Formats: sequence, C-alpha cells, structure tokens
Amino acid sequence: MKVRESVAALRKSLGIHHPSDAPFAGLVTGDRYVAGEGDILSIATPIDGSELARFKTASAHQSCEAIRSASDSYSFWRSIPAPQRGELVRRIGNIAREQKQTLAGFITLEVGKTQQEALGEVQEWIDVCDFAVGLSRQLHGLTVVSERSQHRLMEQWLPLGPVGIITAFNFPVAVWAWNAMLALICGDTLVWKPSEKTPLCALACHRVVQLAAEQLDISPQISNLVIGGASVGQTICEDDRIPLVSATGSIPMGKKVAQTVAARLGRTLLELGGNNGMVISPTADLDLALRAIVFAAVGTTGQRCTSLRRLIVHKTILERLSAAIAESYQGLRIGDPREETTIIGPLIGEHSFLQMQEALDQARQQGGELLCGGDRITAKVPPGGVYVEPALVKMPAQTDIVKQETFAPILYVMEYEEFAQAVQIHNDVPQGLSSAIFTEDMREAERFLSVNGSDCGIANVNIGTSGAEIGGAFGGEKETGRGRESGTDSWRNYMRRATNTINYGDELPLAQGIEFDI
Ligand code: NAD
Repeated sequence: MKVRESVAALRKSLGIHHPSDAPFAGLVTGDRYVAGEGDILSIATPIDGSELARFKTASAHQSCEAIRSASDSYSFWRSIPAPQRGELVRRIGNIAREQKQTLAGFITLEVGKTQQEALGEVQEWIDVCDFAVGLSRQLHGLTVVSERSQHRLMEQWLPLGPVGIITAFNFPVAVWAWNAMLALICGDTLVWKPSEKTPLCALACHRVVQLAAEQLDISPQISNLVIGGASVGQTICEDDRIPLVSATGSIPMGKKVAQTVAARLGRTLLELGGNNGMVISPTADLDLALRAIVFAAVGTTGQRCTSLRRLIVHKTILERLSAAIAESYQGLRIGDPREETTIIGPLIGEHSFLQMQEALDQARQQGGELLCGGDRITAKVPPGGVYVEPALVKMPAQTDIVKQETFAPILYVMEYEEFAQAVQIHNDVPQGLSSAIFTEDMREAERFLSVNGSDCGIANVNIGTSGAEIGGAFGGEKETGRGRESGTDSWRNYMRRATNTINYGDELPLAQGIEFDI
C-alpha cells in the first residue's frame, strides 16, 4: 500500500473525516477543527520521503484560542472528582488498546519506527493510562502534627490549571501520554503542541481523547491541539494562563522555554537531551552486555533520548567487546520499518544524516578510529529514505565530541583502568539522563548507584540505558533538565500543594509561643 493510501486507511479507522486533498486544520479545540492561518506544513514520511499530509499551521493568535479553550474548561474539569476523571482516562486507555495497531501505524509512517517499537510506544500509553486510573484514587497528602493543642496540619494536592505540553518527534505518542494522562486525572486541562514533524500522530491521539469524552458526555474542550513550530510553542510559554509548561526536546529548546516561562514565574517540567553512558567492568557477563548494548545503541536508529552513546570499557576486554559489537552490527536488518523483520528503520531526515557525518568527522579529527559503519545504505531500502549503518568509533577519553548528543546511531567506545576513572569519564558530560553498569561485582554495582557513582536521573545495573518502564519516575539531571515524569510521585508536578492548619479548639494560640493580647 502507498503511504498516502495508508494514511487514508488509518484516518478512516479512527473516524477522522477529512477531504484527502485539503490541508489538515492547524488547531483543534475540543472537537472543533479550525483551519490554520499560518504556513502550510508538508509532512513527509522518513520511510521514502514522500508526502503524507499537509497541514495549515496555527498562527500565534490562534494558539491563544486553544489556550482560552483549555482555560474556559478548567473550572468544570477541576470540579469533577478525581476518580471520575480517572474514568475518562480508563476509556482513553481502552480505545488505545482497541486501536493499538492503527496508532502504531501512524508512528511507523510519520517517524519511521519499526512495528515492534511503534507497538511498544502505544503500549506505553496504555500502561500510563492504567497507572493514572489507579492514581486517580490515590492523590494523597500528608497529615502533620501541630505544635499547638487542638490543631491539625495537612497538605492537600489540588489541580493546577491548563497545562502546556510541547513534545519532540521521536516519541510522538508516549511523551504526550506521560504528561496528558497524569494531568487529566489531576484535574488539569491540556494544550498540546506536538513536534512539527509528527502532527498526524497528534491528531490520532487527540481523536482518541475526543472519542472517550463523547462516551462520557464530557466537554472535549479539556483537550486542545495546536499545530505549528517554535513560535507557537513560545506563545504557550508566554501565556500566564498556563501555570505549567512541560517541554520535551533538545537542550537549546529547553533553555529558551525555561527562560520564557521563568520570566513570568511560571513552572516548567523539562525533559531534554541525553548523552547516555554504560560502564563495562572486567567481571561483566559479556553476552548479556552485548545484547543490551546493541539494543540501546541502535534501537529507534539511535534516536531515543536514552540511546546509548558512550561505552566505557575496561581495557582488558575492550578489543574483544568491540569486535563482538562490530560483528553483531553486520547482522542487523536495516530497511523499511513496515516489514516485520526490520529492526532498524530510517533516520527522521536528511539533516540527521548530515549531523551524523559531521560528528564522525569531528571524532576522526579528535583522535577517533572508526571501527565500523557510518555509511548510508541505498541497496534494498526504499529510495528517498535515509538509511544508515550504525557507527562504532574508538575514542580517547575526554574529547569534545563525546560530550555532545548527536541524534543518530553513533556509539563511542572508550577505555578505563580503574573503576573511579570509569565513573569520572562517565560523569564528565553536561547531560545527565540515563546510565548503566554491567558488572558481577556487587561493590562496583552499589558504588555506581551511590553518591560517588553515576550523576544521572536513571542508573541501571546489568540492563541497558533505554527502554524504561512507566512505573519509575523518568527524567534526568544537569542539562537534561531535572524533570521527572510518568511513575511514582511525578503526578505532583501537575498539582499545586496547599498546606492547611485547622483549629478545632476554642483558644487561638500563636505558633512559636508568640503572645499577642488585644
Ligand atoms: P526539538 O528541540 O527540535 O523540538 C522539540 C519541540 O520543541 C518541538 O515541538 C518544537 O517545535 C518545539 N520548540 C522548538 N523550539 C522552541 C521554542 N523556542 N519554544 C517552544 N517550543 C519550541 O527536538 P526534537 O528534534 O523534536 O527531539 C529530539 C530531542 O529531544 C533530543 O535532544 C532528545 O534527546 C530530546 N528528547 C528528550 C526526551 C526526554 O525525556 N529527556 C524525550 C524525547 C526526546
């Protein structure tokens, strides 16, 4: 099936009615589709570069319409008891379950993910729905003893307001879902600006929310979608009706978002670039490590925030392990992600290939030795797509290039002699998202997780850097932005905390024993 026909079939299965040759709306406020006043945005599939759809993007003025819609529906939504808000999310999860294949189809077409990875991403949405439904009965606060007689202190968590969600291209469904499903049960309404590379996935996700809202006769205005680029994102960041902007993307984007939102003393939740490292100790189970390395380094064609980019290997096993990785790379099936046997799809676009080549050039100039890969593949892949061999590069430690995130499948291998040196090399980058160690030595494992070990938000033992479960709080330190999303207590980001003191006596004692007689 040609890509345009696939899009039409996918749209039909979700009931997105639209003339096939007209551009899609740039703005969806609830169930109202509004033609954008901005530029035409042409969406091409990375599979073969052909056009999937056109959108007429929203103008800055129109973004304000979406914000108004979220703002107007907030007082209604926050007044619904949380377990009933959870019922909406349960329905969303059920529809996502029924439509799993269709939704995964959108991801494969728009991002080029393999079928397994696209299905996995939709499953992440379903999982986070289940988690959020349970949480909707658990939004708990503390009770605190008072220093005053017949007094009680407590903390309540209350809805925050309309939440702005800005998302990256590489997880067009899951990253939105982490934020949106939790924000919905917390009583917040939504304004979503997806990546300008993935508006079709966004339209599909938004449609699922609409369908669930229809089932419960809830105003769909609680969810709003704006299609556009950085300027639309900035409008959301500037608007003081939005108390929280959750932004996922590159570090330069996060710095701009942080400054704009901070200028009006709003809150941000930032999930930015990673530069993830793995330490391989001489005691490591190398068979296990090899599988974890290859999945983390080449999965999603090296376009995950948690992709493995730096391998820090004990000098006694470096050669053996590098040879095993290079051999394993030879057998990888790279090609059309719609084929079931493919395990590496295309890069998102030409610019990613150029960035990859530039990084490889710099690596060579900084003393690196290309061990394998790095070339473009043109045989037996759809013409028009950007397919590459994953690159493995042996690097001296502490070079500049290994400190930057290149969003492509390049794995830098560095050697160490002492464990403390491995940790030092590992932490010597500006980013702090995910990390791992492979070791059979219990002391090393514990040290890696300790205060003197990895400085990342995620630190794993005998498992790779990517592929997190939704139950854990996800996020990084340093320039990765210090956000935490998805599991454990991340829900608190989407609520405001009120401390209440209740006096059930008939005296009015003051705190700290202050006397104030009138
Ligand atoms: P990007 O920074 O180019 O774009 C991300 C989003 O930000 C897009 O929606 C874009 O339109 C918007 N944007 C850009 N400039 C903006 C501005 N000035 N104001 C407001 N919005 C703006 O990122 P990308 O290429 O889509 O995604 C890849 C990057 O995202 C990588 O760095 C990756 O590591 C990171 N990422 C991080 C996580 C995480 O959880 N830490 C998850 C996924 C992706």
